[in-house]
Amino acid sequence: ESLFSELDDIPLDPHYALKEDFSADTSPSKVILGSGIYRDKDGKPWVLPTVVEAEEIVKASEDSGRYDYLPIPGYAPFYTAARDLLFGALSSPEENFVSVQTISGTGANSLGAHFLSNALKPSAVWLSNPSWVNHANIWKSVGVAVRSYPYWNPERKALDFEDMIQTLTLETTPGDVIVLHGCAHNPTGLDPTKDQWKMIANVCERRELFPFFDCAYTQELTRDNSQGFASGNLDEDAWALRHFAFRGSMELAVAQSFSKNMGLYGERVGALHLLTGSPDAAGKVKGHILRLQRGLISQPPKRGATIAATILKDTTLFQKWLADLCEMSSRIKCMRQALYDELISLGTPGNWDHILTQIGMFSYTGLSPEQVSSMRNDGHVYILSSGRISVSGLNNANVKHVARAIDKACR
Ligand code: PMP
Repeated sequence: ESLFSELDDIPLDPHYALKEDFSADTSPSKVILGSGIYRDKDGKPWVLPTVVEAEEIVKASEDSGRYDYLPIPGYAPFYTAARDLLFGALSSPEENFVSVQTISGTGANSLGAHFLSNALKPSAVWLSNPSWVNHANIWKSVGVAVRSYPYWNPERKALDFEDMIQTLTLETTPGDVIVLHGCAHNPTGLDPTKDQWKMIANVCERRELFPFFDCAYTQELTRDNSQGFASGNLDEDAWALRHFAFRGSMELAVAQSFSKNMGLYGERVGALHLLTGSPDAAGKVKGHILRLQRGLISQPPKRGATIAATILKDTTLFQKWLADLCEMSSRIKCMRQALYDELISLGTPGNWDHILTQIGMFSYTGLSPEQVSSMRNDGHVYILSSGRISVSGLNNANVKHVARAIDKACR
């Protein structure tokens, strides 16, 4: 007998369950397109060349204090450079900002949820339907009611914008928190247009919603090669966030991750930023955030933050990093096109244009849970039951096989 016998049974996280099933499959042609982890053209994990260079620089400068604790807010050169990357010129004056290093994007979401639930006592947090599965998990764990606003329209395989605005206008309570994906929405790969972002900002302003941006993919895989990298315009991914900040009428929070854009997944590199209305408020917020940080993790880890700061603060390395991002985003785009071309040449029933128009690492295919399980059973292709495909898991060696599995499931 145990005090814990009455606990509910919690099912395995869908990502882990998928990996376990995949490992148990003995077919030589099996393919997994689950987690958002970048894979190169041979299906291998990729250490960014810029990260290798930064590691060398960090190593050469390390002294006997390399395993010392960081201060509670983390490594200042890292979290200030991270803030500047997001907010650009808006970063100054600095007095209204509070930034701390976190255990990657997950830790930033979690620390932000702890803080906002205590400080604002919202009646609910509003998440897009669907959203990153961990959002609901995190907010439930701090005792805030989770509600969702329409986002994906399964019939049109497009953004459900009118319904989204209507729900946010009619059903929210002033003081509620709204989680917004900065860019490359996970899982749908669909972002609002700039005009739509302005309308979302209008609603947040009118309804007094507190915007909490989750930027797990900013400055990363959404880059359009014909614009961003070529023109050097790096500000596109942060446009929505900056638009909200620039209006000057709303305080806001941002969870930032360097997992995907620097490939530092296991190093857990991230930051939480709060833009407050006054230096006095910033001082108070900082005190509360640091107390929470102390209780949750004491100090964040050092190594990944020093690598990221080295890249962000060195002009030459920064430029090289942009080239690495370009390599990742171009390969993903090629694979979207390759999958689309295969489906068209097979004459697969349905319209597949959304595979090309969605952005970021994922494609939300619109495949039903039944179709997903038939792909697994007949084709040994493993994707989440939501129909989301991690496009970076595709390569020239497996794309035909995946397309055939989708084709079969759709007939
Ligand atoms: N937010 C979103 C929307 C994500 O997709 C992810 C990664 N899957 C994260 C946050 C956090 O990732 P990490 O903790 O690795 O930074």
